[in-house]
Amino acid sequence: MALINEHYLKLTKNYLFADIAKRVNAFKVSHKNAKVISLGIGDVTQPLCPAVIEAMHKAVEDMGTRDGFHGYGPEQGYPWLREAIVKNDFLPRGIHLSPDEIFINDGAKSDTGNIGDLVRWDNSMAVTDPIYPVYIDSNVMNGRAGVVNEQGEWSNVCYLPCSEQNKFVPSLPDHRVDMIYLCYPNNPTGMVITKEELRRWVNYALKNDAIIFYDAAYHAYIQDEDIPHSIYEIKGARKVAIELHSYSKTAGFTGLRCGYTVVPKELTAATMDGKQRLPLNPMWLRRQSTKYNGTSYISQRAAEATYTPEGQQQVKETISYYMSNAHLMLETLTRLGFTVYGGENAPYLWMKTPNGISSWQFFDQLLYGAQVVCTPGVGFGPSGEGFVRLTSFGYREDCEEALDRISSWQH
Ligand SMILES: *Cc1c(COP(=O)(O)O)cnc(C)c1O
Repeated sequence: MALINEHYLKLTKNYLFADIAKRVNAFKVSHKNAKVISLGIGDVTQPLCPAVIEAMHKAVEDMGTRDGFHGYGPEQGYPWLREAIVKNDFLPRGIHLSPDEIFINDGAKSDTGNIGDLVRWDNSMAVTDPIYPVYIDSNVMNGRAGVVNEQGEWSNVCYLPCSEQNKFVPSLPDHRVDMIYLCYPNNPTGMVITKEELRRWVNYALKNDAIIFYDAAYHAYIQDEDIPHSIYEIKGARKVAIELHSYSKTAGFTGLRCGYTVVPKELTAATMDGKQRLPLNPMWLRRQSTKYNGTSYISQRAAEATYTPEGQQQVKETISYYMSNAHLMLETLTRLGFTVYGGENAPYLWMKTPNGISSWQFFDQLLYGAQVVCTPGVGFGPSGEGFVRLTSFGYREDCEEALDRISSWQH
């Protein structure tokens, strides 16, 4: 008899986006002519840039010729892309990585979910609250998260609250943990971490022999020069951190699929008997060679094109477009008297609900008062209660109209 992996039964259903859709539909039924604008879009909306399109056309042509045809590629990704990554994403920040520390993937979500394969199922883990749900759910699936209580908290997960008090950068755990998930710039709060604060985390991991999984999916949105783009800007991080990158938010690859994971050669973990320390880089290569057959040649050529001078310029322009939306939202909403965080180095704004009302109450008020949709913060974890997430991924004209409506609604 085949038995199922019972851990899957423990997964709590995430109703967040279904609940939002339900409420928006109910509103539309009673307000037939209303034009609802979403400031909750979690996907990019701008088209791929010309340099990427050109590279893809060329790659397609390659595939149609005998000499240019590419079948299975290296599981770790083509060397030309890994070299371009080392040269463009790390070297300018004084980080010297070798191309064989880079693993090309089909977007950061897969590897964020899979990377936990490298460590025993019973390691303890810490996550920030609010959170990108993949970090917990992938660990529920392999049994690492333990059992869930009525509040939705997992027995083997240490929650690190991110609140106004700590500027949305959590305190270190008060006991030792083996694995830590960090994401900066953060989804959903849009907040960043300074080098000094990140150094505390790296030092904690060094001291406690822990591994940090650092999600840098939004690094390209950083505007302040002093904010770290990579955890490897911190001394010692190569011994303790794996970093996840994606072209999804950087260059609009959400429908194209490409990203990469950095597993430094210096990163090691102990065997059960404590007698040996083994490097994780060859283990990840082995894992990928067994379970992954590589990202498509066309997607990798597209990713490579983001590093040409034209590509860099065009990618920057798209990010500026989103960041202008973010600045406009931040400025207008603050002027209207809202307390708003994020939006300066990230495409997300984390807005406090007025008068201490709940995330969902404010969601309804905004929908009925201004026909604008937001994402209730509580959907990302208990510490998100009393906040909503706004995104700057929409079209400029929609963003402007939504802000006009909120202004009139407020007056
Ligand atoms: C969008 C996003 C990613 C990237 O996902 P892809 O699979 O690369 O599209 C990773 N982490 C966070 C927190 C995200 O919001």
